[in-house]
Amino acid sequence: MQALMMNSQLMISSILKHAERNFATREIVSVTADNPLHRYTYKDFAKRSRQLANVLKELGAEFGDRIGTLAWNDYRHLELYYAVSGSGMVCHTINPKLFPEQVAYIIKHAQDKFLFVDVLVMPLVEALKDHLTEVKGIIVLTDAAHMPASSLDNVMCYETLLAAQHDQFEWPSFDENTASGMCYTSGTTGNPKGVVYSHRSTLLHALAGSLPDVTAASVMETCLPVVPMFHVNAWGIPYACIMVGSKLVMPGPKMADGATLQALMENEKVTYSSGVPTIWLALLDYLDKSNKKIDSLKRVTVGGAACPRSIIERFWTYGTEVKQGWGMTETSPLGTVFSLKAGMEDLQGDALVDVQCKQGRGVFGIEIRIVDENNQELPWDGVAFGALKVKGPWVASGYFGLSQVPGSEGCPVDELGWFDTGDVATISPDGYMQITDRTKDVIKSGGEWVSSIEIENAAVSHPLIMEAAAIGCYHPKWTERPLLVAVLTPDATLSSQEVIEFLRPNLHKWSLPDDVVFVQELPHTATGKLNKLALRQSFADYQFPA
Ligand code: ADP
Repeated sequence: MQALMMNSQLMISSILKHAERNFATREIVSVTADNPLHRYTYKDFAKRSRQLANVLKELGAEFGDRIGTLAWNDYRHLELYYAVSGSGMVCHTINPKLFPEQVAYIIKHAQDKFLFVDVLVMPLVEALKDHLTEVKGIIVLTDAAHMPASSLDNVMCYETLLAAQHDQFEWPSFDENTASGMCYTSGTTGNPKGVVYSHRSTLLHALAGSLPDVTAASVMETCLPVVPMFHVNAWGIPYACIMVGSKLVMPGPKMADGATLQALMENEKVTYSSGVPTIWLALLDYLDKSNKKIDSLKRVTVGGAACPRSIIERFWTYGTEVKQGWGMTETSPLGTVFSLKAGMEDLQGDALVDVQCKQGRGVFGIEIRIVDENNQELPWDGVAFGALKVKGPWVASGYFGLSQVPGSEGCPVDELGWFDTGDVATISPDGYMQITDRTKDVIKSGGEWVSSIEIENAAVSHPLIMEAAAIGCYHPKWTERPLLVAVLTPDATLSSQEVIEFLRPNLHKWSLPDDVVFVQELPHTATGKLNKLALRQSFADYQFPA
């Protein structure tokens, strides 16, 4: 029997319409290159998004066209999110911090018809001039007074284009499975691959993302997403927060600057924020040095890489709760998020931090499982390690422009329809997932898996160790043993043995590194993650001391 319910399509434009109606006076505050503190309301935002939809139409952009953005977190980027997807085009966010050849590859591969570019990113676009032959126009996200000189053809000014358009626009309705956004995963090897989000996946992700045990986004909150809008849609915040009517504070290009973040958060009374561990270390260092606080900040979500214990503990001293989350570009990114369960209310101190150090529980909508080498499911006992697989309506089933034939590069799902995350994890009986490694970074010592993340987390809790990476190196008896490569704080000295003694109480005997090597810096990928592949290559001939 068929149900008798309206088959309304889940449209991104519905968020905007709801927000304008219900939260017209809510504020969006942004730092931009042309204005250190721009401030307007949801009403202005909705009006300008409609003007922008008219701009796109006038420019000749059509349903399904990819519209590239190279921009920071600010109100103009937000207008693009809604106007582009709302008109049936695909908002393709590009990370301006990638290597120029990757940016060129991505723009060409996605066949971006127009590019909307922050003023600060224009030098990069100028440098890519010869690669942009198929791009019909470049729109600089600024006003006429701040337009840079350019050697490119067909460069236009965002504010001038907007001012010429009226603010009436009827958002169209179409199939909710239509592509709404696109984001390329950078990867350490091979070419970046395009993940394609839909209106449906984005809406369901926003609904799940605002649940109380996930981000608890609400009209009473003020949210500052530090995670960039070019990075998996700023983890969905631009949709979830607008949907519920939160005040948004956008840090623009000043994302990694502790002083700017503290001032913005304090002045705008930010209650909730999200970002990668590196950002929080910068903010915490600034707070410690300046003796400042952020009284309003109730909680932060940390993800993108394992959250060191010290971040959780240091935030507690400022009265801020840390919620760790795990996800990927391919999972939109929400997969698991930390929150306590009934019966755990009394957890305190180290026992509480122990659970917070895990990557959290599966969010409703996402199924998680761990499997062995034969794709057989492993128990949720907190001990068994296995390849982490996920399934759900906001998980990628393929990559743009690549063959989806099972077993090919463009098909990330197995024969049972599970997406292979490339992560290795344990899951405790009560459902808390803990990432122990990337599949390709696993250290296998005498047949036992050793978690490199566990070693790294223990190492960076040493006050003199700034950053650390554990890799497997050849060992004649055990095949592989862990080697720790560490960067010390300026002017610090430590011996290999001192570090090993420091780690001993916190690690299993077989997880203790056999040696510690000190380096000036560790290699990183363009998105700032440890590049273990490069590190393993530079230690390929390393031999442990006899
Ligand atoms: P993102 O851009 O959001 O980091 P990517 O697709 O680039 O997404 O990277 C996803 C990978 O980052 C995951 O597969 C996992 O290895 C790592 N990751 C994300 N969150 C965490 C976390 N909380 N702890 C450990 N690793 C994480």
